[in-house]
Amino acid sequence: MDDKSFNPFAMAQAQFDKVADTLDLDGGTREFLRNPMREYQFSIPVRMDDGTTHTFRGFRVQHNDARGPCKGGIRFHPQETINTVRALSMWMTWKCAVVDIPLGGGKGGVVCDPHNLSAREQEQICRNWVRQLAKNVGPLSDIPAPDVMTSAQHMLWMLDEFEAIHGAKYPGFITGKPVGMGGSLGRTEATGFGVIYTLREALKQLDIRPEETVASVQGFGNVAQYAIRLYEQIGGKVVCVSCWDQADQKSYSFKKDDGVNLDTLLEITDRFGGIDKDKARDLGYEILAGEAWLEQDVDILIPAALENQITGANADKISPRVKVIAEGANGPTTPEADKVIEERGIFIIPDFLANAGGVTCSYFEQVQSNMNYFWEKDEVLGKLDVKMTSAFIAVSDMARKRKLYMRDAAYVIAIARVAQACRDRGWV
Ligand code: NAD
Repeated sequence: MDDKSFNPFAMAQAQFDKVADTLDLDGGTREFLRNPMREYQFSIPVRMDDGTTHTFRGFRVQHNDARGPCKGGIRFHPQETINTVRALSMWMTWKCAVVDIPLGGGKGGVVCDPHNLSAREQEQICRNWVRQLAKNVGPLSDIPAPDVMTSAQHMLWMLDEFEAIHGAKYPGFITGKPVGMGGSLGRTEATGFGVIYTLREALKQLDIRPEETVASVQGFGNVAQYAIRLYEQIGGKVVCVSCWDQADQKSYSFKKDDGVNLDTLLEITDRFGGIDKDKARDLGYEILAGEAWLEQDVDILIPAALENQITGANADKISPRVKVIAEGANGPTTPEADKVIEERGIFIIPDFLANAGGVTCSYFEQVQSNMNYFWEKDEVLGKLDVKMTSAFIAVSDMARKRKLYMRDAAYVIAIARVAQACRDRGWV
């Protein structure tokens, strides 16, 4: 989101168009799938702690629900736009389809910065977001979840409001709830671990041992932290991480050639995934410019922060040593950068496959909530590994057989499944 002119929805449509050209999709189906089915934009007035009223802007976009209820997170971000939410809702449709779970794609957001809001003000935003949409979301139609800068607490406020409005308990309305309040064990780890399940499979196919690899990671929030944890457990070493510095309003990279220490870094990281750079310097980290994570001499890059980070302007800075890019974030790579990555033969695990662990585990949470019976963590993570691994193998087989770039292969599988569901329902 550094570039103000960047339109993520145009990028999501460009990715779709590229694949739709190669699929036998008729014009009507194509037009239907390249746009969201429903969009909601609304005002959220909040009485602030100082007595004034501030009106926040809220969004929910339901891209496609042919395969099941819409599913997707709610982001709190000061630069949130309807186009970002549209793009993310579309990517959710493909994401649910590529891992073959019976859900469609949705996404929501509020233009706000929780850094500057009290807990009470955030609670009001959450409750009011649900009040605006109480008839348009629900366990059988659209199931929200946490995303950038929203947490289990935000989800619980939203659930409480939904249940108050509808006068009954609906634990399957929202996922990412706190464990003990209908949340699933393993949800916190799920997205980051899912990135590494797919990375592990990619390394197997490339005949590379994880123990012989080093990686650089953009972001140090939920996805990045658990991706680093599991990557280290399978033998890898992370030498650089980056994050946003709220005080300086810019990002920094933190480098340590002998490997970052996840546990000590976590001790100096705030709940938004921001690392204290003075303390990091004291611990021996080299503090570099925000973009430095991309330029490291590593085998693996894991963008796990925001969209629009690997672009036509910086893709040539990727080290010749890089063999795999595992996209933890949504939309981190622009189509211009994709061209460079494809030409260089770097193996990319596209976002909507690599980071599908979160929604897959959310689906498990919904199943458990609806049954009111909860699984042990090993069972959740075991099921997650099976789903992610089989989705990865289906995409990489398709890429190999049809000589496609991995992103295009994932799109071919996902779009074909969604188009088929639309045809089966008689919509197109
Ligand atoms: P988070 O809020 O926990 O962490 C975001 C991290 O990115 C923080 O460390 C922040 O400092 C860093 N960051 C922000 N701007 C940056 C910049 N310009 N340069 C470097 N670092 C920057 O968010 P998260 O849940 O880890 O999500 C990260 C990405 O993964 C997002 O694109 C999100 O949509 C995607 N994603 C998340 C999940 C999930 O389950 N959390 C699931 C699928 C996809």
